[in-house]
Amino acid sequence: MALNIKRPNGTEDVIPRDVHKWHTIEKIARETAESYGFGEIRVPTFENTDLYLRSVGETTDVVQKEMYTVMAKETKFTLRPEGTAGVIRALLQNGLLNEALPQRVYYTLSCFRHERPQAGRLREFHQFGLEMAGSDSPAADAEIISLASTILRRLEIKNVKLLINSIGCPTCRAEYHKALREYFGAHKDKLCGTCHERLEKNPMRLLDCKVPECHEIGKDAPIILDYLCDECRDHFEKLKLYLDTLEIEYSIDPRIVRGLDYYTKTVFEFVTTEIGAQGTVCGGGRYDGLIEELSGHHVPALGFAMGIERLLLVMEKQGCDYLTPRRCELYLAAMGDEAYTVCLKLAKQVREYGYYAEYDVMDRGIKAQMKYANKIGAAFTVVIGDNEISEGKAKLKDMESGEEHDIPLNDKFLGTFDSYYVDKIMNVFDDMENPIPL
Ligand code: ATP
Ligand code: MG
Repeated sequence: MALNIKRPNGTEDVIPRDVHKWHTIEKIARETAESYGFGEIRVPTFENTDLYLRSVGETTDVVQKEMYTVMAKETKFTLRPEGTAGVIRALLQNGLLNEALPQRVYYTLSCFRHERPQAGRLREFHQFGLEMAGSDSPAADAEIISLASTILRRLEIKNVKLLINSIGCPTCRAEYHKALREYFGAHKDKLCGTCHERLEKNPMRLLDCKVPECHEIGKDAPIILDYLCDECRDHFEKLKLYLDTLEIEYSIDPRIVRGLDYYTKTVFEFVTTEIGAQGTVCGGGRYDGLIEELSGHHVPALGFAMGIERLLLVMEKQGCDYLTPRRCELYLAAMGDEAYTVCLKLAKQVREYGYYAEYDVMDRGIKAQMKYANKIGAAFTVVIGDNEISEGKAKLKDMESGEEHDIPLNDKFLGTFDSYYVDKIMNVFDDMENPIPL
C-alpha cells in the first residue's frame, strides 16, 4: 500500500515554478540591507531552550504555548521561534560586540511556532530580519524603520501603514504596570484565564491578548505614553522628528506592545488590512535590556523581522511584479548518435559561459524533443542531424518570432549564439515598460 505521507499541518512547500517570488523578496531585502551597512549572519536552526526562556520571556505566548522543544540526551533544545535571540547569542559568542559599533546584521531564516494554522499563520514560516547593536540613539530607530519601509516600497507593496509606539523602560513601566493592574483588576471577571495570570506577572501582555473580550476591555486601558519618563519621552520625540525628516509617514498606536518581552522604548509594526486578520507584515523595536540579560554587559540594540509568507500574500493580492524567472535559453535537439555527441559538446560550451541549455536525456525522437522544448518555453532551439554535421552549420530558431539564423557548429557556435541572444534580449527590454533586471 502507498504510504501517502503529507507535509505537516502549517508547513508549505515552495516549488520551482514559484521560487522566483521568494527570490524577489530576498534579493530586494538583501540589497537594501547591504546599502545600509548590514552584513548577513547565519545561525543554527535550534538553540538551547534557556536562550528563549531568558530572552523572549516566560510569560509570552511564544514561550508558553508555541515552542517546539526536543530533549536530546540530557539537554533541551528548541527550534527557533524567532531570529533575534539566536543572532544576539551569536554576536556575543563571536565577540562581535567588541568590534566596531554599531554591529549591523541581517538574516533570512525559518521560524517554528506551534500555532493554529490559518492564512498568514504557519507553524514553519520565514523571516527576513535584522539587528543593530551598540546604539542608543533614536537615529538608529529611524534608520531601521527607514530600511524596512524602503524594502516594502521597492517590493511595490501598497497600503501598508507604519504604526509606532514607545513602551518605555523598566523605570517608567513600574508606574504603568500599577495603572494597568488597577484598570484590568476592575474587569477581572471578564478576562480570559491566561490574562488572569498576565495580570500578576506581566500586565502589559494583556494588551496583546487575542481573545476578543480581553481585546475589547484593553481598548480603554491606560496608555504607556502617559507614563514615559523624561528620557523615554525625549527618545520618542526625536524618533518622530527623524521620521518626519526622512518623510516617512506613521501613526502613533499606543496599543502596540509586541509579542516578545525583550522590547523597550520604540516598537513598531507595518500593517495592512488586505490579507485578513494576520495583517502585520513587519514588526520590530528596541530591546536595550536583552544583551545585558544574556551577557551582563549593557549594550543597547534594536531590530525588526518581516514575515516572508505574509509579504507574498500581499504581493499576490496586489499583483506586484516579481523578478523574471529564468527559462531555458537554448534547447539542442539531436537526430542520431553523432549529432547527439555534438549537442553534448555545444551545450557544455554555452553552459560554461553561463547560459541555461538543455538537450534530450529521455531517448526521445526529434518530434518529442521539440515538443518538450516548447513545453519548457525554450527561447532558442537548434536541430542537429547528419546533414547539419556534414555542412558544418545548423539553423538556430527564435521560438517566439520563428526567425531562423545560420549558426556554425564549431568553436564559433558560442559567439554566434551569444550575439543572437543579446540582440533578442535588447529587443525584449525595448518593449518592456518597467524591466526588472535579473
Ligand atoms: P502576530 O501578532 O501576527 O502573531 P508576532 O508578534 O507573533 O505576530 P513577531 O514575533 O514579531 O510576530 O514576528 C515578526 C513577523 O513574523 C510578524 O510580523 C509576521 O509577519 C511574521 N510571523 C509571526 N508569526 C508568524 C506565523 N505563525 N506565520 C507566519 N508569519 C508569522
Ligand atoms: Mg504571534
